[in-house]
Amino acid sequence: MRIDIISIFPEYFAPLDVSLIGKARERGTLDVRLHQLRDWTHDIHRTVDDTPYGGGPGMVMKPEPWGEAIDAVLAGEAEGPRLIVPTPSGRPFTQGLALDLAAEPWLLFACGRYEGIDSRVMAEYGSRLRVDEVSIGDYVLAGGEVAVLVMVEAIGRLLPGVLGNAQSVSDDSFAPGTMANLLEGPVFTKPPVWRGREVPPILLSGHHGKIARWRRDEALRRTAANRPELLAGLGPETLDKHDRAV
Ligand code: SAM
Repeated sequence: MRIDIISIFPEYFAPLDVSLIGKARERGTLDVRLHQLRDWTHDIHRTVDDTPYGGGPGMVMKPEPWGEAIDAVLAGEAEGPRLIVPTPSGRPFTQGLALDLAAEPWLLFACGRYEGIDSRVMAEYGSRLRVDEVSIGDYVLAGGEVAVLVMVEAIGRLLPGVLGNAQSVSDDSFAPGTMANLLEGPVFTKPPVWRGREVPPILLSGHHGKIARWRRDEALRRTAANRPELLAGLGPETLDKHDRAV
């Protein structure tokens, strides 16, 4: 997969050199290209923002450098990328959207700062590319860089060969299938007793059917405690008799 990122702080993306994503880049599974938005400004101050039309506080990112930067990324390519614009006013970023984006060959992320990017940029490219405005949560960050790091990590770990064990993706919280609308329950490793605290005996039993049942019960309990609104999305047809008892 190719990922282009345009930002006024490309140095924010140093973490993409390490761990799973760093290794995926080394192997060539992921081709990440960083672009400095200011390279497409033409004044001595390399200005990317201006005051908002209609008044109000803060500054808005000017459309001209964005247009030139995106055009330069698209230049000479037969097919365009899917353009992802992080913004608190976008659609929620979910595991489902991460899976959807992981199936794309090429993504372009446009990192806003200040009060965001002049809306005409999204309108302009919306006629040529698939454009998604995406929020990573109901809070406001200072810029899109951290949101893009979150999305690239969530998408990158879904690419074939990036995780050592592909099974862990289908067992994760929110994974489509048996974990859709569920949070993963507690996990344990050796030793069997630590500071007097025992691992639940069922996990040491070797009985796969009972362990699977225990894990599902714990997932249902944790979801009910921390995210009860998710249970509504389970649908009665997805629940068995045992689930309903939990
Ligand atoms: N004025 C905007 C609003 O109220 O919706 C907030 C702009 S925010 C200070 C600056 C930039 O941070 C945004 O353009 C976006 O790129 C990024 N950002 C902030 N919060 C975000 C979130 N929850 N999800 C995705 N991006 C976010």
